[in-house]
Amino acid sequence: MSCALIDRFGRTVRYLRLSVTDRCDLRCVYCMAEEMTFVPRRDLLSLEELDRLASAFVTRGVRKIRITGGEPLVRKGILDLFGSLSRHLATGHLGELTLTTNGTQLARHAEALAASGVRRVNVSLDTLDPDRYRTITRRGTLGTVMEGLAAAKAAGLRVKLNTVAMRGMIEEEIDDLIAFAHGGGMDLTLIETMPLGDVGADRTDQYLPLTDLRRRIERRWTLTDTAETSGGPARYTRVAETGCRLGFITPMTHGFCEGCNRVRVGATGLLYTCLGQEERTDLRAVLRGSEGDTALQAAIDRAIDAKPKGHDFVIDRDAGPTLARHMSALGG
Ligand code: SAM
Ligand code: SF4
Repeated sequence: MSCALIDRFGRTVRYLRLSVTDRCDLRCVYCMAEEMTFVPRRDLLSLEELDRLASAFVTRGVRKIRITGGEPLVRKGILDLFGSLSRHLATGHLGELTLTTNGTQLARHAEALAASGVRRVNVSLDTLDPDRYRTITRRGTLGTVMEGLAAAKAAGLRVKLNTVAMRGMIEEEIDDLIAFAHGGGMDLTLIETMPLGDVGADRTDQYLPLTDLRRRIERRWTLTDTAETSGGPARYTRVAETGCRLGFITPMTHGFCEGCNRVRVGATGLLYTCLGQEERTDLRAVLRGSEGDTALQAAIDRAIDAKPKGHDFVIDRDAGPTLARHMSALGG
């Protein structure tokens, strides 16, 4: 094992979020516009390149890999990548291999994911109402995700639900969502909308600060803050009535950068050391330019050394997106 990836602020990078496609079968209103231009397939890293890249990070002490997208399960052959990366679980060099998914393909793939060593999966679900689900995703069917959740449980996968808190929608459903998630043994994490990419709508209409939502939740539920952290943006509480966890991801109302332990790689091999900044390193060129990993490791080192201190998100009616890049380019 080579030396760990430590940035100039002393933060050790142990977590890689790897996007395998920017495509998706849904068009969630906070994430994408109705009409999207996706990266040409020839520009994507091949499955072999994704494996090589992820393995280079494992060599440097990354203990957790999350496969994301776009929708990771629409990438052709993606289960082969899970299968090949599972060798690092077997050696113990990797502690966790997981994914974030919209759940539309989970019914088909849950068993194979479990067989590849995946133990937990994050599923995005913003509503329990079929019409509202169609409105938010512009094309999805709630029942398909429900089947996916059932299949995940049957395969022995632990599920955490991720819910983007959209003003005018979440307020009347939040109690039901908590009851549904926790009643089914699933933790729930609420996410503030972040100003990434043009989605063809005004984000000030979508944005609901989670501090407001939390006050509303506490009318019905008893929340106790916990010290648990994933080194990421989520702050966790325990709900006394259910015993399960409720997380809050609050990039807009609280900073979360000082303990950041993660980096992201997009599907074309761009390494972003901060979700909220434009600095990036093209690892595809390095991957394709050399057979051994010496140049790749050097490029990763340089990028980690320049990891920004933090992000700078703003949601303002006249400001437009803070970054032109959509969330689907990096997978959150
Ligand atoms: N397609 C998969 C899914 O939806 O779970 C994985 C990729 S998606 C980009 C990852 C997460 O980012 C999802 O939980 C989604 O709700 C969230 N997300 C997308 N756009 C967002 C935005 N503008 N602000 C906050 N969260 C966003
Ligand atoms: Fe697709 Fe996920 Fe973005 Fe929704 S949030 S459009 S499911 S990538």
